[in-house]
Amino acid sequence: MPAEVIDGAIACGGTSAEELMPCVETARLSGDIAAVAIERVPDTAGWQSVQDLCRSRLEQYGYDVELEDYGTGINVIGRQEGTDAAAGEVIVSSHYDHISGCSGADDNATGIAATLEIARLLADRTSRHTLVIACWDEEEGGLIGSRAYADRAVAKDTEIHAVFSFDGVGFVSNEPNSQMVPAGFDVLFPDQVAELEARQFRGDYISLIADEASSSIAASFATYGDLVGLTTSVLPVPESLKLISQTADLRRSDHASFWVHDYPGVMITDTANFRNPNYHCLGGMDLPGTLDMSFVTQVTQATLGAAIDAIDAT
Ligand SMILES: [Zn+2]
Repeated sequence: MPAEVIDGAIACGGTSAEELMPCVETARLSGDIAAVAIERVPDTAGWQSVQDLCRSRLEQYGYDVELEDYGTGINVIGRQEGTDAAAGEVIVSSHYDHISGCSGADDNATGIAATLEIARLLADRTSRHTLVIACWDEEEGGLIGSRAYADRAVAKDTEIHAVFSFDGVGFVSNEPNSQMVPAGFDVLFPDQVAELEARQFRGDYISLIADEASSSIAASFATYGDLVGLTTSVLPVPESLKLISQTADLRRSDHASFWVHDYPGVMITDTANFRNPNYHCLGGMDLPGTLDMSFVTQVTQATLGAAIDAIDAT
C-alpha cells in the first residue's frame, strides 16, 4: 500500500522500500543532530552522552545491543538476527566521535541521526540478512573502531554482505564552483569529473564511493535517490585502484576498514572538505544551522531503500 497523506500528515508503514521511505522524519533527524552536535572527543562527557544516545535508542527499538570495548574505545553495536543465518550481515553505520574544539554537526552528527532513523524504521521488519546498526568510535583517530569490528569479523569468519557508512551527509551548495575534487581525479575518474564540469562544479549532490562488490547497492541507492529528488554521483572504485595510494582520499572513512578485508562497503558523503568550508571547523563552525535538512532527509530515504534491498537480497 503506498503512503497516503491524511490530514496533512504522511501515513506510512509496511515492509517495502517505497512504503517505508516516506516514514523518514525530518524533525526527528534535526532533533538527533542537535543532540549529537556537541564536543565529543573520546572519553569526555560529550562522547559518553552520544554513546549513551546510540545505546538507549537501539535498546528502545529492540536490538540486541553490545558495547564493543576493543581496548582504546567503544563501538555501539545493535543486532537483529536475519531469517537465514548463513546469509551474513548488512551493516548500517557511522562514527560518533569527533575532534576537539568542534561540534561536528555535518561530521558526523548527520550520519548518526541517519543511522538511528534507519534503525528505527527497520526495527520490526523481518529480513533475510542479519541487520547490524553501528555507531563507530575513534574514526577521527584513524578508523580505529570500525577496524576493530572488521578485524573481529575476519577472526570469527563472519560473512558481511554489505556495509553502509555515512560520513557527513548534510552540507550542500548550489553555487557554481562550490565543489572541488582531489588532485589527479580527472585521470582516474574522467566521466565523473566531466559530469561535474557540465554542472559547473555545483556541490548539490550526494557522493557514493563504492567498491566493485557494492555496484548493485550503489545502483539501488541511485534509483531510490531519483524517487525522492536526490542527485547521486556514484564513484565506482575498481579492485585495482581500491587500495592504492592515489585513491587514499576515497578511504578516509570507516568503509575502508572493510575494504582492506575485501568486505563490500559504500561511503555516503557530501565530500567533506571538498565542499564544506566548515569541515573540522577549519573555515567556520560546523553547526546544525549550516545544514540542509531536506538533503539529510533524502539521503536517509535513499539509504533506507538500498538497505532494504540489501537485507532482502538472495
Ligand atoms: Zn567524519
